[in-house]
Amino acid sequence: MPNVKKIPRRQCVGCREARDKPDLIRVVKSPDRMIRLDLKGKLPGRGAYLCRNPDCLRKARKSRSLERVLKTAIPPDIFDALETEMEQAAETERKEQTGSDTG
Ligand SMILES: [Zn+2]
Repeated sequence: MPNVKKIPRRQCVGCREARDKPDLIRVVKSPDRMIRLDLKGKLPGRGAYLCRNPDCLRKARKSRSLERVLKTAIPPDIFDALETEMEQAAETERKEQTGSDTG
């Protein structure tokens, strides 16, 4: 077998599926204890991974798996803000992908 460049895989804390890292969004607990989406994958801190799908955030919220992975309590308003941000990110991506589509 030739050497294939390996893409790191991470498990989504929402649906528990392992995916290629670029397909996931990182959620970070930064050193100042803020929870935020790391859309560029460059923020410092402890991270958890979610599919680029707000549904997975909702699952992670319900099962508390995100809080477990980040080892912190996440207030409802933070979850709401993350959910909104993920919906916006998904929306932006949809627009980018439909550029050449003539319908
Ligand atoms: Zn998922």
